[in-house]
Amino acid sequence: MSFTLTSKDYVNYINIVKQRIYENGDYISGLDAATGDGDHWSNINMGFESLAAAGEELQNMPIDAAFKKIGMLMMSKIGGSSGILYGGAYMAASKVIAGKESIDSQDLCNAMEAMVNDMMQRGKAEPGMKTMIDSLYPAVMAYKQALSANISGRETMILVKKAAIDGAEATRNMEAVKGRASYQTNKGVGNLDPGAVTMSYQIECLCDYIIDNLIDK
Ligand code: ADP
Ligand code: MG
Repeated sequence: MSFTLTSKDYVNYINIVKQRIYENGDYISGLDAATGDGDHWSNINMGFESLAAAGEELQNMPIDAAFKKIGMLMMSKIGGSSGILYGGAYMAASKVIAGKESIDSQDLCNAMEAMVNDMMQRGKAEPGMKTMIDSLYPAVMAYKQALSANISGRETMILVKKAAIDGAEATRNMEAVKGRASYQTNKGVGNLDPGAVTMSYQIECLCDYIIDNLIDK
């Protein structure tokens, strides 16, 4: 079974994930301090604060335009690699849902696939390089598989979120090929990648929002 996700839903989700990111400040900053330069949480937190501040405007747009605006805000408000990668990803996603007022489950899967493809191209990265792609990519693969297996919407969201969380956890033992952790002598082995963890928060909060609000119990 599918669902209908509107811009208003997306803004509701943004407010939920903004809070989740805010509450995990010390943890995420610690992860980036161990493997990078320590700013990932402040970058991503600032980005979600700016999205939440634009909530009124975003919720009154068709979802394709909202995604484009989200991309532009992320590109301009989030510093570091993640700003460019998220910005580009949302803009790519807005293109695959062009002309849509709201989206269904297949559209969301297509949008997430466009995001990961854009991130991989822009960041010249693949799964296994200890980046945020290691959470998003398995989530997209699980989503595609679930849609083709025709299982329930609830079960689909549970599988997508599990793949994202497991994917982030798997970065612990990876050697970084991209990002600042790749400059470290041990390539960040033993630490989770902060970008993968914040990506998993976003996917988890989106799946939970859909389960709790858009799917019949
Ligand atoms: P910066 O590394 O510029 O300080 P952030 O700290 O905001 O930027 O983000 C770091 C995160 O960005 C990393 O944890 C990793 O997940 C992700 N990242 C870095 N480089 C790349 C890349 N080339 N492709 C995909 N993700 C990347
Ligand atoms: Mg950083």
